[in-house]
Amino acid sequence: MNFKNLGVIEPIWRALLAEGYKEPTPIQEQSIPILLNHKDLLGCAQTGTGKTAAFAVPILQHLYLDKHRIKGHRKIRALIVTPTRELAIQIAESFHAYGKYTGIKNTVIFGGVKQGAQTNELRKGVDILIATPGRLLDLMNQGFINLRDIEYFVLDEADRMLDMGFIHDIKKIIAKLPEKRQSLFFSATMPPDIVNLSRKILGNPEKVTVRPEQTTAEKVEQAVYFVHKKNKAKLLIHLFESNPVDSTLVFSRTKHGADKIVKLLGKAGINAAAIHGNKSQGARQKALGDFKNGDIGVLIATDIAARGIDIDQLSQVINYDIPNIPETYVHRIGRTGRAKASGIARSFCDLEERAYLKDIQKLINQEIPIVGDHPFLKDPVSELGKQPPSGQKRSASGGQTNQANKNERNKHRKYYSRRKV
Ligand code: AMP
Repeated sequence: MNFKNLGVIEPIWRALLAEGYKEPTPIQEQSIPILLNHKDLLGCAQTGTGKTAAFAVPILQHLYLDKHRIKGHRKIRALIVTPTRELAIQIAESFHAYGKYTGIKNTVIFGGVKQGAQTNELRKGVDILIATPGRLLDLMNQGFINLRDIEYFVLDEADRMLDMGFIHDIKKIIAKLPEKRQSLFFSATMPPDIVNLSRKILGNPEKVTVRPEQTTAEKVEQAVYFVHKKNKAKLLIHLFESNPVDSTLVFSRTKHGADKIVKLLGKAGINAAAIHGNKSQGARQKALGDFKNGDIGVLIATDIAARGIDIDQLSQVINYDIPNIPETYVHRIGRTGRAKASGIARSFCDLEERAYLKDIQKLINQEIPIVGDHPFLKDPVSELGKQPPSGQKRSASGGQTNQANKNERNKHRKYYSRRKV
């Protein structure tokens, strides 16, 4: 199967070939014919599956074939709403790459920067607008953007939109869209509130599902390292020193944690940068740019900042902290092993995180292999012996607290004596 067979026109498949896309990914193969047929689409797929081209290619093709109908100043005819600035920029870059022989113009708007450059681009006229919700509403309210000519609407990463509290913004945007349009709705997960939201947007959609399990199980090699919390930084440095890889994305649960990791790595002579919500847009773009062009080999990110970042040749993902939401793990490791590439995802798991690990394994329906021979595989029992769990004091006379510690130790011994969790 190739893009030509799917009905994609020459100026677009030529651009896809130039990007190195020889054949469509499953989501593209399933979605492109539906969308070329002007149907609404409910796509259950995460970033990393090739979903950007799945929606961008048909939109570009419709606009291109219809180009001559539009006389005079360009009007915004396609709107893509996505939760984060990084994702918005990447989608715009993809439209640019896939549409380079079509003459179709797009621009991207997002918050956290001055609006002048964005409104200048809008004034010049664009066919496609990629936007984060807040800045979109802001510029609509100021009269820079009108949605009355929208013919194609994409809501991307809907579950993340809701997690990030964008539901009211989304509803306001939907209310301004023309009734007659083609709508596309993408979400990695489909809990009931997402299904409800999709009903507000879509007519009678065709459904396409690419299971996260597929991407996780088939492409990404995974490994878990049991390690005491306080040894995680040492383990990270050890991994970089013993097994240098070109590009590593390290996930930290907190912004503060991300900065701390950068500092610790710096002390060990490993050049890294962090991206998270407390960094300015300029600093985030610079870090991402340096990472993409190989000036730095390690990028530390929080989940929200890393959402959807697309880096070719990402060799490994390290979960410095295990995420407490299992789907987040799938999102994270989806950053490596993109499309046809293979990658490795290593996870550092301390005692408190073992329950999260169990949830993850349940979701992906896989046991993640344990690395049994790293230098920081401390016996958690002796750790506990030295340092009673918080809130508990060891009693010299071996009273109740000592018994509690013993029970706790037995629990952990049982846990760690099994080679697989
Ligand atoms: P996405 O899920 O849209 O973020 O795409 C994930 C990655 O896969 C990006 O790096 C794309 O450039 C790449 N990709 C998308 N479609 C294809 C394809 N058909 N062949 C090869 N790579 C692709």
